Amino acid sequence: MSVRTRFAPSPTGYLHVGGARTALFNWLYARKHGGQFILRIEDTDAARNTEEARQAIFDGMSWLGLDWDEGPDSGGDLRSPSSSSSYYQSQRKPIYDAYFEKLLAADRLYKDGDATRFRFDRKPITMHDLVCGEVTIDYRDESNTPDMVVKRSDGSYVFHFVNVVDDLEMKITHVIRGEDHLMNTPKHLQLIEALGSQPPQYAHIPLILNPDGSKMSKRDAGAAVGDYPRQGFLSEAVVNFIALLGWSSKSDEEIFTLTELIDRFSLEAINRAPARFDIEKCKWVNQQHIAKISTEKFADLAKPFVEAEKLPITENYAAVIAAVKEKVRLLTEVPAAIDFLITDTAAQDAEAVAKAKGNPNSAFLPMLADHMATLTDWSADIAKEAIASVAQANGAKPGQLMFPVRVALSGRAHGPDLGDVFVILGKERTLARLRSF
Ligand code: GLU
Repeated sequence: MSVRTRFAPSPTGYLHVGGARTALFNWLYARKHGGQFILRIEDTDAARNTEEARQAIFDGMSWLGLDWDEGPDSGGDLRSPSSSSSYYQSQRKPIYDAYFEKLLAADRLYKDGDATRFRFDRKPITMHDLVCGEVTIDYRDESNTPDMVVKRSDGSYVFHFVNVVDDLEMKITHVIRGEDHLMNTPKHLQLIEALGSQPPQYAHIPLILNPDGSKMSKRDAGAAVGDYPRQGFLSEAVVNFIALLGWSSKSDEEIFTLTELIDRFSLEAINRAPARFDIEKCKWVNQQHIAKISTEKFADLAKPFVEAEKLPITENYAAVIAAVKEKVRLLTEVPAAIDFLITDTAAQDAEAVAKAKGNPNSAFLPMLADHMATLTDWSADIAKEAIASVAQANGAKPGQLMFPVRVALSGRAHGPDLGDVFVILGKERTLARLRSF
């Protein structure tokens, strides 16, 4: 039987990291096993659903590269073995009604006021979760497990019922979802048994905690997937980072492309312990991905950020961008990392400037400029040799001149390799900045 997984978000807020991780794990499992990944929108709570939230799910998943085989706008209905024509729960009421009739025929429903309750089978129910292991709920203890409402007095069905019906109808083989649903699962098994069907396999993935140990909430920084693109993250880095929330490769390796993740992913390697969300780690992962991509791709991705800061895309943009590729963690850091290479009016770091001006080796800068002025060729090596010979002539070490030279050229204490700076600025601008410092 071919693997079929699903992501079943409720469109009530934005797509958050926890939801994206659920989507990713289901997607990875389906892709790894050559199965299908289904997107189902659990939009039965009309009062809380919004069009923006629905759009945020689509946008977030597309940005992350998580395509679905069946779901809204995919025409998946044609490939689906189910009779349904919709992947929106709000449009599947006739299907739920039919299943409700089945439970009625099986004598498992009874009226309680205007609501309808499902009669639990009074026996222990044990589930074998692929991550959490065996979990048993003893339904003989009626006071702890009262029969559950499946249809409310207003005629609407509860989450447990529609969720189970859809998993059966859509022939889902593996339900991978957050641990907050673990204790719901025995209820789902009760319903499935009463409907005379076989349950899917379940894998409940660990909670995500903030670095301080508190449960991550929708308001925490980094919670909204939609914020990541404008904060300068690469989608493949975010996917990689999200994969590491509760899963590890069981090796020292942590940096993976989506294709590598498909190859490595397994449910067995999901941790039981809660995952720690650390945005600094995400920035580090981002830096690793920036280092891995081609300079062309990096230049393209960085361009909108550079333009947003009103910096011109100069003729030597490719060389400028290459100089900082291994230096930045986020695309948003690119403008401030390259501005001094592009304009003469970039903001300076006052502290670094003051420190360099107070450095006795700054006295050699005019001499260095004079020496460089005599050079007929210009390259990183030639410029560095010039520093070495001026240092030597003054009884200093070349390294001692590097700091004032860097600050004179860039206005800051850190930045790209000085050799790159010499080449990109060219001889004339290098001399001018050394002289005017
Ligand atoms: N709509 C439910 C949620 O977002 C789906 C739970 C499930 O995956 O079964 O929590």
